[in-house]
Amino acid sequence: MRGKAIQAVRGMNDILPGEAHLWEFFEDTVQDWLRGYGYRGIRMPLVENTELFVRSIGEVTDIVEKEMYSFTDRLNGDSLTLRPEGTASCVRAVVEHNLLYGGPQRLWYSGAMFRHERPQKGRYRQFHQVGVEALGFAGPDIDAEQIVMGARLWRQLKLPDIALQINTLGDSESRARYRSRVQDYLQRHADAFDEAARERIQKNPLRVLDSKDPALQDVIADAPKLIAELDGPARQHFEQLQAVLLDLGITYEINPRLVRGLDYYNLTVFEWVTDRLGAQGTVCAGGRYDGLIEQIGGKPAPACGFAMGIERLLALMADNGNREPPQPHAYIVHQGDAASRLAWRIAERLRDAGFEAILHCGGGSFKAQVKKADASRAHYAVIIGDDEVSANDVSLKPLRTAGEQRRMNVEQLITLMHSIEEN
Ligand code: ATP
Ligand code: MG
Repeated sequence: MRGKAIQAVRGMNDILPGEAHLWEFFEDTVQDWLRGYGYRGIRMPLVENTELFVRSIGEVTDIVEKEMYSFTDRLNGDSLTLRPEGTASCVRAVVEHNLLYGGPQRLWYSGAMFRHERPQKGRYRQFHQVGVEALGFAGPDIDAEQIVMGARLWRQLKLPDIALQINTLGDSESRARYRSRVQDYLQRHADAFDEAARERIQKNPLRVLDSKDPALQDVIADAPKLIAELDGPARQHFEQLQAVLLDLGITYEINPRLVRGLDYYNLTVFEWVTDRLGAQGTVCAGGRYDGLIEQIGGKPAPACGFAMGIERLLALMADNGNREPPQPHAYIVHQGDAASRLAWRIAERLRDAGFEAILHCGGGSFKAQVKKADASRAHYAVIIGDDEVSANDVSLKPLRTAGEQRRMNVEQLITLMHSIEEN
């Protein structure tokens, strides 16, 4: 008896073959781009101790309050969590393996993240990020480098209209002064807020500035600005960052409301945003987190990083008509025992020569096989029947261009395919 069909978990998507090629193109581009800046890969587990995220992301944040997939390890009762982001895990790994002992590190990772959010376009419960972290660097030069990197990647992916917003959260002193000024201000407008937000004003007032609730936007717009609180070194850090951006012709907007949804940031924060994706417009976000390494138990060291949402970037790429699926070079059609044996050998020869070849499997008439060849988007059908076997050659039929079917031997086939590949 046929069982009831089982479906994927809500908010967790299959990436089907029709879109996988876009992912592969993105991943290839990203790897080359990261190599171009000297970043090295690191791969962390998908599951960490819950405490890691509570301590790094912060107790009073959306992620820790309501978005984590946490569960108890059945064997020892530990609380574990599917990673909601990569920075905490990456820093944990760097500390655990003493990577900073060998000097500063430029690292990157890519993979699935899990957050229990309300699924909608551009917002999923399993989604994917590429994360970039530079650890052990104190100066604004590395902040600038990471922003410059973003600008280059959007160019390489041919993504227009991604705008840069930057802000500074100051150092811990200016931030503490600012925190209490914002708290005072918000408290004076407390009647505009609901219960939960009022509690946030008490516990984490800066986070209230991050709210997307339309009813609060007026109050938030008039809140005091941190820039006014900045003192010497923090101001200088921000100015030096901007000097590099100006120098390289990277346009940006200072958004004083940009505070980011995690607690560990200080000084520089930035987001790349587009208005082509509706409400889920942030495609990449990051900033400096100088206190985090120490907070996780490492020797104090500064750091800066960012993460981009792959689904949102791919949605932009698709939106951009960037969608050509790959085309194999040849689809090999064959009938009869001797022909099939020759077909196997020729398929392997073509792959030896670096071509993508699909060998027809499953039999059927020549006519049906050529139909499959056409549907495969291959450039050519390589046809092998009894005639070809006795002459020890193949017939080549162009599928995408006009032209007659032609007989040739395998050497000629390979030479011809190379010459086509070069044009
Ligand atoms: P948002 O404000 O959209 O909730 P965030 O500040 O929570 O984003 P970060 O934690 O900074 O996001 O993650 C970096 C990037 O990862 C985001 O800019 C976005 O592109 C992507 N991202 C975050 N959450 C999701 C999600 N649930 N689904 C898809 N992409 C996401
Ligand atoms: Mg979020």
